[in-house]
Amino acid sequence: MDEFGVIERFFRHTPQAESVLLGPGDDAAVIKPTPGMGLAMSMDTLLEGRHFPVGFPAEYVGWRSLAVNLSDLAAMGARPRWALLSLSLPQVDEAWLDGFCRGFFTLAEQMGVSLVGGDTVKGPLSITVQVTGEVPATRALRRSGARPGDKLCITGPVGLAAAGLANWQAGITTGALVQAFAQPIPQCQTSLRLQGLATSAIDISDGLLADLQHILTASGGIGADVHVEALPLTSEFLSWGDGAQRQQAQLYGGDDYQLLFTLLSHVNVPRGCVQIGRITSRPRIRVQDFQGQWHDNMAIRGWDHFTS
Ligand code: ADP
Ligand code: MG
Repeated sequence: MDEFGVIERFFRHTPQAESVLLGPGDDAAVIKPTPGMGLAMSMDTLLEGRHFPVGFPAEYVGWRSLAVNLSDLAAMGARPRWALLSLSLPQVDEAWLDGFCRGFFTLAEQMGVSLVGGDTVKGPLSITVQVTGEVPATRALRRSGARPGDKLCITGPVGLAAAGLANWQAGITTGALVQAFAQPIPQCQTSLRLQGLATSAIDISDGLLADLQHILTASGGIGADVHVEALPLTSEFLSWGDGAQRQQAQLYGGDDYQLLFTLLSHVNVPRGCVQIGRITSRPRIRVQDFQGQWHDNMAIRGWDHFTS
């Protein structure tokens, strides 16, 4: 099967929304944005051995490659609409492509995203997805709006994906924790409810403290108090590792794709979300650990491609 065969068989006949005037097959896609809406755009590349383990099931790779992108739109309060997919494949493996498409299109359908085009080349396994979403131009959520006194909130538990990856590497390939890493659910629905409500937002891809630091820096060099005890938990996570390992996963583990956001102090925390701390004027993060002890100088390392 050649390049055009792959496109024809796997990517040409994808269900298209009304907003897609021309999908895969011509030289470029033509889409019809909603009048008056701003367009939010984001792109992420996934490399085998870097962003997912070598030999990771294709269905998970397909899901994750779209999920990480949709999470960026969620962080902006944007509704996902269209996607482009650039695939570099070492060979045409139809079973792998079937799995990849199952993962990718299952999530795409759930989130109302149309694949409108892409590129297919031969090379080391690498997946780049570009997504475009819509958001009323003045209501996009940003990293820069947090102020001292704001509530610091999260959309759900973190640390599960890091625990799941550790399980996977230890040969445990099933269970809710592996699922959290393999098929994270981008917070697209919740994100729409944060429009015009959150003073700042970011998606947690690199780790809670690392991504919190991005908000604090973008907001002018302020700080935050974080209570580990307030972080949401699941029963599966509670039966993984010990307290110190769980806290490590919660504070530093990436890949959960929950949203971290701030609210004015008088605003109620939206249903399903949890307050985990508060923004402060001192320019540093203070953490109250799972044993109640305060730490003034927690390391803020997250994943960085050039230093990790
Ligand atoms: P060109 O040579 O003009 O760049 P391509 O051969 O790369 O065109 O692609 C032909 C058509 O197939 C284009 O519409 C492109 O968007 C689409 N396409 C190629 N690869 C993919 C893919 N992986 N997913 C979706 N659409 C794709
Ligand atoms: Mg091309």
